[in-house]
Amino acid sequence: MTCIAVANQKGGVGKTTTAINLGTALAAVGLRVLLIDLDPQGNASTGLGIPRAERAKSSYDLLINEVSLKEAAVATRVPRLDVIPATEDLSGAEIELVDYDARTHRLDRALAAHDGAWDVILIDCPPSLGLLTLNAMVAADSLLVPLQCEFFALEGLSQLLNTVERIRSRFNPGLSILGVVLTMYDRRNRLTEQVSDDVRAVLGRVVFETVIPRNVRLSEAPSHGVPALIYDHRCAGSEAYMALARELIGRLPKPAKAA
Ligand code: ADP
Ligand code: MG
Repeated sequence: MTCIAVANQKGGVGKTTTAINLGTALAAVGLRVLLIDLDPQGNASTGLGIPRAERAKSSYDLLINEVSLKEAAVATRVPRLDVIPATEDLSGAEIELVDYDARTHRLDRALAAHDGAWDVILIDCPPSLGLLTLNAMVAADSLLVPLQCEFFALEGLSQLLNTVERIRSRFNPGLSILGVVLTMYDRRNRLTEQVSDDVRAVLGRVVFETVIPRNVRLSEAPSHGVPALIYDHRCAGSEAYMALARELIGRLPKPAKAA
């Protein structure tokens, strides 16, 4: 099993869209995937069609009540893709956790009890570098960073990378950056091209070759409670996430490849 945190402290850069559709694409090629929704807004849970009433156990219970992955996971309409939904009480978890021992290691502990039911665990992080994201970074093997091609894209990134350095030196030396993926890419926009060139010049090969285009199907799908890959599997957004999945699998440590 490999655990990938989808993280960027900026909101609206495509974390949740990436977690949902990459998770679906990985499941489509045969991997058993668990998506942990770690954002109190619960967008990933909603986008995967889990109504609030059906979130009996949630990522809050994972962190606070020591509920197991198995108990909290629910199936989605996508074969091989399960989700641990988020509920609103997760927004309080950040404050509640402050009083706990090992408050940065709650998720790591939950994952340590994993019994091989999933090949890939994806964590959809909230838009901050608070305790929830720290828990994800301590628990994860690697980070996937969605980056929107806009003018300040690189500024927030240095803060993120500093946090990764701190996590590495204190808690999780093996934490790697699996890759940076450029999202909402608009080929007709000069700025997109320019930012993309800058980002690639600074970060080099850590940036995935696959880019995710700006595609209205990707933003419509969540309101239907399904991933874009089910809503319209032939749209440019779905194809891009399939390509990203293939490229990402090539970067994973070998054992995780076996489906
Ligand atoms: P985050 O989780 O980082 O806050 P989201 O994935 O929720 O970001 O995306 C923010 C908004 O942009 C959402 O409304 C989403 O539907 C939309 N969006 C994300 N990626 C794309 C894309 N490639 N093309 C068009 N809309 C997108
Ligand atoms: Mg989100």
